[in-house]
Amino acid sequence: MTDHVYQQLREQLAYPKLPALAEQLAAALQAAQQNKPSYTQFLADLLSTEVQATEQRRLDGRLRFASFPRHKPLEQFDYDAQPSLDRRLVEELATLRFIAEKANLLLIGPSGVGKTMLASALGLKAVHAGYRVYYTTAADLVARTARSALEGRWQTTMRFWAGPAVLVIDELGYLPMPGEAASHLFQVISRRYQHGSVILTTNRGIASWGEIFEDTTVAAAILDRLLHHATMLQIDGDSYRMRGHRARLQQLRQALAAEPQTKP
Ligand code: ADP
Ligand code: MG
Repeated sequence: MTDHVYQQLREQLAYPKLPALAEQLAAALQAAQQNKPSYTQFLADLLSTEVQATEQRRLDGRLRFASFPRHKPLEQFDYDAQPSLDRRLVEELATLRFIAEKANLLLIGPSGVGKTMLASALGLKAVHAGYRVYYTTAADLVARTARSALEGRWQTTMRFWAGPAVLVIDELGYLPMPGEAASHLFQVISRRYQHGSVILTTNRGIASWGEIFEDTTVAAAILDRLLHHATMLQIDGDSYRMRGHRARLQQLRQALAAEPQTKP
């Protein structure tokens, strides 16, 4: 191939935005001269380079957009540490069928039992499967929504919350939600109802949601929409965060007990 034709080819590949292909062109041509693939195979190999590069770029974009606090995969979840958790249910959730069905997931349990990890890890799976996911805390969601109402960006913000296939709302219940905040949360949940999944984590059993929200009518309305198509995962076990502390405390106690008693 003459230099001229090669250059023209590279430039033409930039038109339909095939930069990875243009990048690989020289190497691919050289390899083809040695391996002599069929025309079809040559083109297929060349195009798959571009497809892979595009997929990687999109995945990186979705990952950045998702704003997960951590990127621990579900495979690192230690089920033995949480015997109360229904492992088969988690594995069923990991198939992501609930997202295709636009159903919700409620993770309920005390602090440190892995709610954020499970919510993010399922979200991460969804991102890898091609879904758009967004992680936020409940406090952040209502603060941003209130700000947007004041600044005249209500509709834009509401569209934003409705957009992703999965909205992870973490840590509901740590802070009380006075009337207006509860109403904002209700409107976000309402907009997503039957359009996209919500993964919500809370330290409060649903029976005590009245204590989170000032307004029990709003609490009931939020629950109604959330639970209509929902899986509930209750985690009652010990805090994973405290395991290290407990082990150290135990060592300390044993060391103290082993020390010879000093006579008074
Ligand atoms: P929660 O959101 O329920 O308060 P987190 O998900 O933040 O708890 O968990 C606290 C820490 O412990 C995190 O670093 C998390 O990855 C880890 N962790 C919790 N449970 C498990 C578990 N079963 N297996 C592995 N790591 C866990
Ligand atoms: Mg958490």
